[in-house]
Amino acid sequence: MKFENSEVRLTYRSALVEELRAAGSKIVGDLELLLPSSLGFCWGVDRALAMVEQARLDYGGRPMWLISSIIHNPRVNSDLRAQGIGFLRGRHAIAGAWEQLGSNDVVIVPAFSATVEDMNYLRQRGVTVVDTTCPWVIKPHKRTLKYLKEGFTTIIHGTVGHEETAATCSLIESEGGHFVVVYSIEETEVLAGFLEGTIDANYLHENLRVGSFSSGIDCEQDLQRIGVINQTTMLASESRAIGDRLKAALIKRDGEPALAKIFRDFDTICRATQDNQDAAAAVAQLKPDLYLVVGGYDSSNTKNLARVGRRLGVPAFHIEGPHCIQDALEHRHRESGEILYEAAWLPAIRPIKVAFTAGASTPDALLGEVIERLVEYVEKRLPQANILS
Ligand code: SF4
Repeated sequence: MKFENSEVRLTYRSALVEELRAAGSKIVGDLELLLPSSLGFCWGVDRALAMVEQARLDYGGRPMWLISSIIHNPRVNSDLRAQGIGFLRGRHAIAGAWEQLGSNDVVIVPAFSATVEDMNYLRQRGVTVVDTTCPWVIKPHKRTLKYLKEGFTTIIHGTVGHEETAATCSLIESEGGHFVVVYSIEETEVLAGFLEGTIDANYLHENLRVGSFSSGIDCEQDLQRIGVINQTTMLASESRAIGDRLKAALIKRDGEPALAKIFRDFDTICRATQDNQDAAAAVAQLKPDLYLVVGGYDSSNTKNLARVGRRLGVPAFHIEGPHCIQDALEHRHRESGEILYEAAWLPAIRPIKVAFTAGASTPDALLGEVIERLVEYVEKRLPQANILS
């Protein structure tokens, strides 16, 4: 099924976003609205949702399930639940459904893939699997298998617990390999310190998150040769810095001539993530007074779009939808992940230059509602309320 012709595509359209996409900017009352050249639904999400729609046509009448979210957007997941698709895991899971799966069931594997253990279980239960794994997610899988074959331990720049990274980790372990996950530059510094010999393995284990290491890893032995990959949706500039830092640590440990034998680095950030980050940075260079980044709070690529804005000195806020626009703006803190309420978020100047962007799992319709809500809020709000001085 071509997504352009699908019902889902029509459901998630927004005439306002389409108009803004074409024009790049628009003045509405006291607001100058700006949109980057690339934002929102990526090819992989388009494809996953089209596959779900096709599966509903192909397997209508049979019980249909998602392992957990199809993508990280509450609106989309709630729409799928409303269509009768059940969840096997997570907050909306139906108790006992996973254990009772059988040959009449249809299970949809999300765009970020699934663990080897889950895939084996589904096969064993004889269910019909609709695998929407994005081809971009396969790229780090292939790369890590290559590292493994060459005798390298994989260092993953990713988030422990994120479905994509969990799938990559399980693939490595199922093949008898090892991995270490680093989330940030700070965690990379700890790993680099170990490689350089300034800290010991106990300190390394204690200072990375639970779940960062493959089971049975012997860091002294297994980190002699390392290859770096990234979860596809990480901040590209940070991934590059992490690769460079680890490379420098190995040069310090073993000398530059040894590098070709002990270090590999391969960029597995997906094209859509890279394009959205580049476009978000280009709009941030226009110095908007406010930057609203719309997407699910658990969406990795959306979190990183907010960080792009903040790193360029722009007041960027990661919000989940129109409900966040209120006297105290609801948003997710870009580093701590806490949901906060910001009282002074609306600049006092007029017109206010407001940029918007949206994560790869955010429907245009949701972004359109956010823009409309902001326009309405600014028109109606009291002149003195919630103004940044
Ligand atoms: S963000 Fe990238 S990896 Fe994830 S679904 Fe979209 S295209 Fe695929």
